[in-house]
Amino acid sequence: MLADNLKEVQENIRKACEKSHRNPNEVTLIAVSKTKPVETLQEAYDAGARFFGENKVQEITAKYPELPKDIHWHMIGHLQRNKIKYIIDKVDMIHSVDSLRLAEAIEHEAAKHELVMPILLEVNVAEEDTKFGLKMEEVIPLLEKISGFSHIQVEGLMTIAPFVDDPEENRQVFRDLKQLSVDISQKNMNNINMRVLSMGMTGDYQVAVEEGATMVRVGTGIFGARNYAI
Ligand SMILES: *Cc1c(COP(=O)(O)O)cnc(C)c1O
Repeated sequence: MLADNLKEVQENIRKACEKSHRNPNEVTLIAVSKTKPVETLQEAYDAGARFFGENKVQEITAKYPELPKDIHWHMIGHLQRNKIKYIIDKVDMIHSVDSLRLAEAIEHEAAKHELVMPILLEVNVAEEDTKFGLKMEEVIPLLEKISGFSHIQVEGLMTIAPFVDDPEENRQVFRDLKQLSVDISQKNMNNINMRVLSMGMTGDYQVAVEEGATMVRVGTGIFGARNYAI
């Protein structure tokens, strides 16, 4: 069943690429495995998933040693500065950087580990009060500061679009984020590239792909509903 879900999501991504004349190889599917046990992640791995997204430091540190080493872990949730040290050498990318203080703390930990951490800036495009993320106009000023950091490589932007019934309602959100990434690319800033646009979840990833997503984060569509009670 999980394997069928995974196949269906991959097929939907392929179709969205076809519709928008994009190469499906440009889109990475991140299986959002938060709240799911390692057995379920192993099942997804066996079905071919290699990119997993988690939103809690504790879940990454618990699952990481139990699963194959060729998994690419992506931190997609709000990150507290004092917890960076637990994941800095485990994740391929942090999608959720939304302040200078957090970027500075990542820079500090990455320097200690002598690595360069790929990050995305999280943008609250729709300016929802309930969500983390920078306002659109805050992104370039923050990039100008991070540009001078030597242990952070900015790879692009991420957004969590509003929860809507009709995914078409989020099309403009995705367009706005894409446009911002194009504007930033043209500035040719040091240490900053815009190769990644992390946008689209179970409810709206096809629309996000049509609008230029290069990473989609799909949880429910692969693993089924989450049970937060356990
Ligand atoms: C949970 C989560 C997702 C996946 O949500 P689904 O609707 O289950 O696909 C994607 N991105 C982030 C940041 C999340 O926290």
